[in-house]
Amino acid sequence: MAALPAGFGMPEFDLTEDQRALQEMARKFARSVMAPRAAECDRKGLFPEDIYRKGWELGLMNLNVPSEYGGSGLSLFDQCMIVEELAYGCGGMTTSIIANCLALEPILLGGTEDQRRSVLTPFCREYQMASFCLTEPGGGSDAGGLQTLARKDGDSYVVSGEKCFITNAPHAKLFTVFTTVDPALRHKGITAFYVPRDTEGIVPGKDEEKMGHRASSTSTVRFENVRIPVSQRLGAEGDGFSVAMRTLDMTRTPIGALATGIGQAALDHAAAYSLQRRSFGKPIGEHQAIQMKLARMATLLHASRLLTRHAARLIDGGQNATLESSMAKSFASDAAMEVTDEAIQIFGGYGYMKEYPVEKLHRDAKLTQIYEGSNEIQRIVIARELLKKYQH
Ligand SMILES: Cc1cc2nc3c(=O)[nH]c(=O)nc-3n(C[C@H](O)[C@H](O)[C@H](O)COP(=O)(O)OP(=O)(O)OC[C@H]3O[C@@H](n4cnc5c(N)ncnc54)[C@H](O)[C@@H]3O)c2cc1C
Repeated sequence: MAALPAGFGMPEFDLTEDQRALQEMARKFARSVMAPRAAECDRKGLFPEDIYRKGWELGLMNLNVPSEYGGSGLSLFDQCMIVEELAYGCGGMTTSIIANCLALEPILLGGTEDQRRSVLTPFCREYQMASFCLTEPGGGSDAGGLQTLARKDGDSYVVSGEKCFITNAPHAKLFTVFTTVDPALRHKGITAFYVPRDTEGIVPGKDEEKMGHRASSTSTVRFENVRIPVSQRLGAEGDGFSVAMRTLDMTRTPIGALATGIGQAALDHAAAYSLQRRSFGKPIGEHQAIQMKLARMATLLHASRLLTRHAARLIDGGQNATLESSMAKSFASDAAMEVTDEAIQIFGGYGYMKEYPVEKLHRDAKLTQIYEGSNEIQRIVIARELLKKYQH
């Protein structure tokens, strides 16, 4: 493969000097540290902890933690810019890197000042991972239907149940966990806690064998009568559903950015290949059928980036952007699927071979349609928000 032009296809918007420096740093890390290891980690299902540690050293983890707790304190716009760059290097590694943001956001949103300070600060002082435990084997989309039970016992709760598909769980030092105090109460019973890994009764399962994002680690977590002090509850009993939904409102938009980064890598590879590969006496990039594909791929990615950055700007401005963030996440992930599919087509038979980078990008793109609220759920949210505007 020819070397790809740095930053090709990335419109710069009106970035400040600081933002440009941040983007450049993330780009360099993605292309010089993550990308060279991406194929091997994908093939062997390796979890490259040294890369995650290096990312932490550069301030690329815990992007959402405010500076008063020692974090990067970045706007959502800046977080999206960084996530897109990282995903260009490897989608799976990016999932593991940003899983800390997902796990720590409930503490930012639902925690007291004391909880925030005591839990978040250590993450910024030393490298460690956290996991967000919402999904259960019985269903992920219906977050009001959780079955993991929290039974009050004196000044603590005894938590029992199982979570599944939990990113970084085998490596996490801290879990944010969503439980119910009574399943019959549905969303009104959902109660959130944070709990350190070394608490008795927490049992992460073995790493799942996944289709993509294989540099990330995913497993079940069993809670076997885990005693959690009331002081580790986030908000009041019954506040957990709101904490979970507000968390996902913040983390959904960066998934749009992650999908865009994967798609951009696919376009760059495909465009470069189309100028080298010849058929019927000329580069395939000179055939109009291939040009039509490249044009559509570039347009989809441009639209994804605009939707994502617009949603992030709204959220940074304190506006409710449930509609826009769901649009950004679902559009960008569907676009990434189409773009990576077309990249394989442009590579022809080589595109189907693991020796070339685009089949991995397609497998990685798939997850972005499923996690952090599937695209079906996003479209339900979009329709609900849309119809509100027509009701009097
Ligand atoms: C690699 C990976 C990492 C993950 N990381 C985490 C993590 O760190 N923490 C965590 O808590 N979860 C995590 N998840 C879980 C993820 O968020 C869920 O898989 C997702 O929310 C969907 O839930 P489900 O798999 O139970 O599907 P289900 O809810 O069973 O849905 C199955 C299908 O039905 C559709 N569907 C469901 N309800 C409706 C409806 N009302 N209308 C129309 N269609 C519907 C869904 O869109 C989907 O297509 C991860 C998942 C994966 C695969």
